[in-house]
Amino acid sequence: MKTANGHEIIQLFEQFSPKVYAMEDDKIGLQIGRLNKKIDKVMIALDVLEEVIDEAIAKGVQLIIAHHPPIFRPLKNVITDTVQGRMIEKLLKHDIAVYAAHTNLDVANGGVNDLLATALGLKNPEVLVPTYVTKLKKIVVFVPSSHAEEIRKVLGITGAGFIGNYSHCSFSSEGTGRFLPGENTNPHIGHQGRLESVNEVRIETIVPEQLLKRVVTAMVKAHPYEEVAYDVYPVENKGEVLGLGRIGTIDEMTLGEFAERVKTGLEVDKVRVVGDLSSPVKKVAILGGDGNKYFKHAKFKGADVYITGDIYYHTAHDAMMEGLNMIDPGHNVEKIMKKGVTETLSKMCEESGYEVDIFASEINTDPFKYI
Ligand SMILES: [Zn+2]
Repeated sequence: MKTANGHEIIQLFEQFSPKVYAMEDDKIGLQIGRLNKKIDKVMIALDVLEEVIDEAIAKGVQLIIAHHPPIFRPLKNVITDTVQGRMIEKLLKHDIAVYAAHTNLDVANGGVNDLLATALGLKNPEVLVPTYVTKLKKIVVFVPSSHAEEIRKVLGITGAGFIGNYSHCSFSSEGTGRFLPGENTNPHIGHQGRLESVNEVRIETIVPEQLLKRVVTAMVKAHPYEEVAYDVYPVENKGEVLGLGRIGTIDEMTLGEFAERVKTGLEVDKVRVVGDLSSPVKKVAILGGDGNKYFKHAKFKGADVYITGDIYYHTAHDAMMEGLNMIDPGHNVEKIMKKGVTETLSKMCEESGYEVDIFASEINTDPFKYI
């Protein structure tokens, strides 16, 4: 086990929640501080409020990964007797970096919307609003037989070889590799000026474009040869379609019963419901955060009920007239990402041999009280 630096941790995080998944003009990535430092404590937060920063200081955190970007509108100044200025000052003084993963974390597999769908027990959840189609590349690498297993492992860990729900997919065939080490070489096998032939394995797999650089870097690092022979091909296959929200099914129940399930599943005391409480629901759409503008997607895809936060009065009227039930459990249900991201990132760090304590912020950042 070793202590990772911030870049290494974020590199892992971005395999899970790549920046390219974010909606246009979203504010994501490193917002405050630096990643170029050793990190052994990471806190996962929904919102970066001053209390959350105080918690991070008290717990000796060096990096906060937050869902809601603390800097959303461009700053005109940093005046340290305003709340925002003071927050930035505290973070910088304590060398705490803040990294935001907003809509890219909504879209990611295992991200906010998947976590919400799982918490409600949705069966066969699919994307509600497609926003991104993964582009794929084929990668082929030639490896001496002795190192084939290791290279396959590295390709799998770094994110190559995902086909549907299968990971670590690859194809290997054996053959003979030939090379003549020239002057100034230091060959892993063979000698300068002598033609060599070696039993090699051709490993081929598929990799999402956004992970290509990372996969190639890790593969070249793990490969025993001084000069690694590999090819990258464009492919026409369409990769996975990703997006915001999820739609799936539940065993039929009434809207009223389902509203109770939402309260339990998403750990909220109250929900607002639009629609006839005795109407049956079976097909359920959910979109974390403010999903007002997507209610027509839910209607179009045949949802009986659409769950989202921050429902406006007029959206509720529109949905009512369209005959679509709605449930608003509040925007704060996105707090589910604290536990979800903690688990996912902890597992990834452990697999990479990083000694780092990753934990969820314990501050409740819901501004609303229900009385
Ligand atoms: Zn949100």
